This record gives sequence, structure tokens and C-alpha cells, in this order.
Amino acid sequence: MQEIQVKRTTAPKSKPDPATLLFGKQFTDHMFLMDYHAGQGWHDARIVPYGPFSLDPSCMVFHYAQEVFEGLKAYRTPDGGVQLFRPDQNIKRMNNSCERMCIPAIPEDLFLEALKQLVSLERDWVPSQSGTSLYLRPFVIATDANLGVHASHSYIFAIICSPVGSYYPEGINPVKIYVENDDVRAVRGGTGFAKCGGNYAASIRAGQRAEELGYSQVLWLDGVHRKYIEEVGAMNVMFQIDGKVVTPSLSGSVLPGITRKSCIELMQHWDLPVEERLLSAEELFSAAESGKLDEAWGTGTAAVVSPIGELAWNDRKVTVSGGKIGSLTQKLYDTLTGIQWGLLPDEFGWTVKVC
Ligand SMILES: *Cc1c(COP(=O)(O)O)cnc(C)c1O
Repeated sequence: MQEIQVKRTTAPKSKPDPATLLFGKQFTDHMFLMDYHAGQGWHDARIVPYGPFSLDPSCMVFHYAQEVFEGLKAYRTPDGGVQLFRPDQNIKRMNNSCERMCIPAIPEDLFLEALKQLVSLERDWVPSQSGTSLYLRPFVIATDANLGVHASHSYIFAIICSPVGSYYPEGINPVKIYVENDDVRAVRGGTGFAKCGGNYAASIRAGQRAEELGYSQVLWLDGVHRKYIEEVGAMNVMFQIDGKVVTPSLSGSVLPGITRKSCIELMQHWDLPVEERLLSAEELFSAAESGKLDEAWGTGTAAVVSPIGELAWNDRKVTVSGGKIGSLTQKLYDTLTGIQWGLLPDEFGWTVKVC
């Protein structure tokens, strides 16, 4: 494995007030960078002072969105240490996303070492107030200066870090969700399973429309039939219907969330069966209207779990769990956050100590 060169900043920034941290607005003193050139492979792994890139305006990423990213967090543990949660899963998923976008794979051991060394160098940036963390954003961009449509021959892989506040500073409040009939996020055969910027660009309009109507997220339907539920906003989604947990199967257009996977594994461990299958909006609303929808929640790294309190589809509107967080949603939240912040024992070997 190649060595990671370290060039420290000579102008460290002052740390933000942990009480007023916003998501993704402040960044730490350093970033990890590595370059790729055809024939040379990935090279020049380095940690350098955080700062802007200088890129040719014709760079492929600006025009054709050949780009992938990841999102994970570093957590402060009660003993003052710092740990990551299932980074191996993010590394595998990023390489799956790379494969879809014709980007050369990142060596897995080097990727993990980069995360550890960067977080260790920035350890004082990991906040310790309840619910706070250091958000890590690895990404790859295509840097060929060329408007021809083909895979780039050069790339930059970067990791930047941002201290983030608690997702729920005022306690967990269930969100209102609007079923989107027109726009779709992804289709099978497209890039829905890959974590790439283009999926997000395609999702912004529906999100805006939902917000204008007073809802906080969109419930996405499949792109072919506009019938089956896929995700909620940029989270996976789960429902408890008549006692059974149902979540959309990974059909190719659904992002394979690590929080989703962890929730499924926890529920299986608790002997709660989870059905991964097609679930139509009609089935969901019929269940809700006949009093059989017990709980509904989204899952993702940022929020961990986000309870759904209300669902609207055309002129049908249903309240879930009386608009409050359900007991299973709460149990998943408490268990996952407990493991992530080192407050509960990690029976599954999910955490990786950094320092
Ligand atoms: C990242 C992401 C998720 C959640 O994945 P986690 O690994 O749980 O953070 C879900 N849906 C989309 C579209 C995403 O980009």
C-alpha cells in the first residue's frame, strides 16, 4: 500500500461553536487527496490543508457528471476516543458506484487508511456534545479537460470533513411526506443504486414542490409503473404493517443504504421478520386507511431514522402512529445511535476505532 504524505496547515481555523453547527457548512483544516491517471493508476495519496481546487472549465465532471460520493460519520465515544461505523460498507459501495460510472476502483485498504489518518489528524474537530459528529464526505470527480463524451482518463479522489450538529436538536419530530406521481428519481438500468450527484440533480425539483406544499420530503415511486414505493427523499424507507416490517427490495433503482442494512440486521437479531419486496402506494394507503399501518420511517446516515407522521398521495392523507414516533422506530434509533456513539456494546463488530 502506498504511503500517505502529510502536509499540515500553518493556519489552523478556530473550531465552530458546537451548539450552532449546521450541516455541511464548515470544514476542517485538512483534506485527503489522491490522483488517477490512465497508465499510472491511483497515486500521490496525501493529506493537505483544506482549500479550493483549480480545474479547467472543460473538465468532464462539470458537463457530464461523471462523479460519485459517499457519506459517513466519525463519532466521539465516552472514553474520549473516536470511531467509525461500518466504513467497509461505504468503501464497497463507493467502488460499486465507481464501477457503474466507469471510474477506476479505489484500493480498499488505502481508502480505509485515508479515512483513519485524516480523522485521527482532525480528532479535535470531532465534537463531543450529544448527537454531534464529524461528517466525512469522500468523492471522486472526472478531471479530463475534454468535452468528448467518454470515460475520463484522470480523476481526483478527495475526502473532506465537516463537524455536524445533532439532527434532532429539539427532539425527534415526525415528518410529513408527499407521494410524487410525476418526477422519478431513478429507473432500473440507470444509476439509482449508485451514489452519484446526477441522481440528486434529478430529485431537486420534486423536493422543491413538496416543500412548497408544506411537506418535508418526497416519497418516490418506481419509474416504470409509478406504482411501487422506492425511497423517501434521500433515505431508504420502512413500514410496519399489521406487525410485519416491509421495505422496498433493492431492485436496482434503490440505493443500498447502510442504515437500511443495519436496521434489517438488528430486527432479524430481535426475531422480527423483515420483508424486502415490492410495496405499492395503494397497498400502503389501504393499510393505513384500515388502521394497519403501525409505523413508518426513513433511514440514512444523517438522521439515522426519521419517523414519518403523515403521508399524502393525491387527495388521500393519512396520519401514522398518531403523528408521534413509534416504539420500533424509537428502539432502532436508540440501538443504532447507542452503538455508533459507543454508549452500547457493539455485538456485531460494526465500529472501527480510529483513536
Ligand atoms: C446515501 C443514501 C441513502 C442512505 O444510505 P446510508 O448508507 O444509510 O446513509 C439512501 N438513499 C439515497 C438516495 C442515498 O443517496
